[in-house]
Amino acid sequence: MTKPNMHYADLQDSYLFRRIAQKVATYEEEHPGNHLYRMGIGDVSLPLCDAVIHALHEAVDDQADAVRFHGYMPECGAPFLRKAIAKHYGLRGVSLDADEVFVSSGASDELGDILDLFDARSSAMVIEPAYPAYVDANVMAGRAVVHVPAYEEEGFLPRPSNNLQADVIYLCSPNNPTGAVFGKRQLQEWIDFANRHDSVILFDAAYEAFIEDAELPHSIFELDGARTCAIEICSLSKTAGFTGTRLGYTVIPKELKRHGMLLHDMWVRNRTTKTNGVSYIIQRGAAAVFTPEGQRQIHKSIGVYKQNARVFMDALDKAGVWYCGGRNAPYLWLKCPEGMGSWEFFDRLLNEIQVVGTPGEGFGSCGEGYFRLSTFGDPQDTIEAARRLAQVGVFR
Ligand code: PLP
Repeated sequence: MTKPNMHYADLQDSYLFRRIAQKVATYEEEHPGNHLYRMGIGDVSLPLCDAVIHALHEAVDDQADAVRFHGYMPECGAPFLRKAIAKHYGLRGVSLDADEVFVSSGASDELGDILDLFDARSSAMVIEPAYPAYVDANVMAGRAVVHVPAYEEEGFLPRPSNNLQADVIYLCSPNNPTGAVFGKRQLQEWIDFANRHDSVILFDAAYEAFIEDAELPHSIFELDGARTCAIEICSLSKTAGFTGTRLGYTVIPKELKRHGMLLHDMWVRNRTTKTNGVSYIIQRGAAAVFTPEGQRQIHKSIGVYKQNARVFMDALDKAGVWYCGGRNAPYLWLKCPEGMGSWEFFDRLLNEIQVVGTPGEGFGSCGEGYFRLSTFGDPQDTIEAARRLAQVGVFR
């Protein structure tokens, strides 16, 4: 009898968003007509910018023309897009060869696929609370997961210590769900640690475009030693509203070598075997993001989410609540009232002020007692949700 991948049986039930949906559905059934303020969503609410839409339309027309038509695209990405992304890194002082940039269909796809580069017995370190896909992708592959809890006292940014050991280390900055961002000194410690232990860092920079403080690194490759220990995974999903359009990119430096094998060359081999590239039309749309006009327009949308963040931060400051994130990230991670569990707080916000957020416990057990608010919601709803949050009462 065919034996399926039995590691799937080891997956924890991904009940977080299902349980939220159930609770919301029950509330709506019992309170028809009550408006809910949905501040839990990780999806964007603003459309693609004009520069991208224009490029997409032009690319559609190219596909209707026998001369300009494109069939299969290069598996690792169209040269025009790889060059545009490498140039974008260059503006930040990071020098990359265009062929160190791999175009993908999004960070989620890539975070799972990239594990092909590592031995099946290798271990993965995940700092929690964390984006749930890191753990699940490794469990599916039967890999050992080293769970590293992060705490409020260290701003949810733990430092490496020599009693921790793993082959692959996930770092996410700006972080989902905590909104915490590594400073250069803290990130350097992880790079030095990875180089000392021959580990590889998978640096998830899906939210880098939300960084506004000049001293914070957008890319791990802004730091010394990263080219020998890191892979960076990025996405246009939140940066440019591509959640439904799908485009990401991954940087693998040519110096990254383990056991005599160059991970860059292995990934070329992998992509040329397992994909036929990303659609020409979407890559044209993505290239428009990296033009000066595209950058201006995407930052206008990001500015709307940042205004939502400021509205929440003012409300939480007024209510005297501990939180992190918000300034350089699209999420705020706040502390539930003394002794209250994150699901209990979820119920209180839903029932008392009709605000829906995300209980921290869903991102790992050390998220218990915390709560995530997203800034991707509707601005008017965000203003009203914040007003309701600032009311005396919900944080008692
Ligand atoms: N990484 C993090 C930290 C995320 O929060 C998300 C999406 O929410 C992703 C990756 C996936 O992004 P994509 O839409 O590119 O698959």
